[in-house]
Amino acid sequence: MTSNSPEFGAHLAALKALAAQVAAPNAADVDAKSRFPRETIDALQKAKLLSAPVPKEFGGPGYGMRELAALCSTLAQACGSSGMVLAMHYIQVACIARHAQSSEFFRGYLRELVEHQYVLASMTSENGTFGETRTSICAVERKDGRFKLDKDATTGSYCQHADGILVTCRRASDAPSSDQVLVLVRKGEYQLTQTTSWDTLGMRGTCSPGFKLESTGAEEQIIPGSFADSSAQTMVPYSHILWASLWWGIAADAVARAAEFVRGGARKNPGVVPPTANRLAEVSTQLQAMRHNWLALAAEFDSFLLAPTGLQDLLSIGWALKMNNLKINASDSAPQIVHKALQITGILGYKNDSKFSLGRHYRDTLSASLMISNDRIASKSASMLLVFKDN
Ligand SMILES: Cc1cc2nc3c(=O)[nH]c(=O)nc-3n(C[C@H](O)[C@H](O)[C@H](O)COP(=O)(O)OP(=O)(O)OC[C@H]3O[C@@H](n4cnc5c(N)ncnc54)[C@H](O)[C@@H]3O)c2cc1C
Repeated sequence: MTSNSPEFGAHLAALKALAAQVAAPNAADVDAKSRFPRETIDALQKAKLLSAPVPKEFGGPGYGMRELAALCSTLAQACGSSGMVLAMHYIQVACIARHAQSSEFFRGYLRELVEHQYVLASMTSENGTFGETRTSICAVERKDGRFKLDKDATTGSYCQHADGILVTCRRASDAPSSDQVLVLVRKGEYQLTQTTSWDTLGMRGTCSPGFKLESTGAEEQIIPGSFADSSAQTMVPYSHILWASLWWGIAADAVARAAEFVRGGARKNPGVVPPTANRLAEVSTQLQAMRHNWLALAAEFDSFLLAPTGLQDLLSIGWALKMNNLKINASDSAPQIVHKALQITGILGYKNDSKFSLGRHYRDTLSASLMISNDRIASKSASMLLVFKDN
């Protein structure tokens, strides 16, 4: 599948239309009320866009990273929270599609997901493990073909609006904290008790308070293999590339607003280049560099999947460093770009009720460096760089 296929062209056109007609007009209200972007998710379901990562053999289009990143970045230009919800959902679907195909249950589940356009959420965070996704305190308990799983999560985006949640936990009650598995818990089989609020600076539409989860289900809902592999081969690369693409989308919309402001100034004074045009030229270089960073790594990821050594490449230190660098760079760049756009629009961008408003963009992008703390990621890179030689 390439980005030029007619099928992808039709899907991208459908997404652009719903971004303009549904997501953008609702973005300010989603942000102000800190509410789930229900109408946008309904529109994505109607356009069958929630099954974009599902392989063709299960009825989906089987899009690769480049296509998924194009979809997330386009939606984020209209509404950052909606772009983040779509990205987080795709990450969960990809974990199932790439690590659970050996299971008859999950092959059937992927077909069901295509038919019903399920929304999937994620619970990796946990009280007591801080932001470290690769350790768990909670454990899945198995008995007579069933499981029981309880978790005290610090943050759970749109869990109250999801059809299923992928939950990290220890493999068994006697397993070490890093011996984790991913478990799919399904609506109707879990209870959520909200433990904290979600009144945040930005990404307010992701609706991500803390929750206590109590769940049961069939043992076959435990994804085969270990989370160590699905994390390195799928969750981390999908997260960092798709997040970078959507943070870029938010920054791109901020620069588009600044560009419109500059062009408006130029129209008022024909023949004179407004002084703000120089700032626009400067910020557009940073926006382009940010875009090329995630585009290049999305293409590299897709090429790994075609190569016989692909899975090994995804487990290499070199690739892990590239993912960390992408995450840190994109999450630092996005608010800087929005800040520069704000210097161009001036007071009209600072106001919340002008067509050049940039408050939501600014606040949304400030979450990027915290969402898996950049310091935590940098300290892992620091350790890897002690042994890694790039040649
Ligand atoms: C918009 C948004 C949506 C989210 N959605 C979900 C979700 O759906 N599901 C989910 O499970 N989680 C979700 N999260 C939580 C996220 O995955 C992280 O768990 C969380 O952001 C980390 O929280 P923390 O800052 O308290 O933790 P920490 O990573 O522990 O950071 C706390 C502090 O310690 C510092 N620190 C940590 N490690 C180091 C180090 N090695 N060196 C120096 N300083 C360090 C950090 O800089 C920071 O100041 C979401 C977060 C955001 C922002």
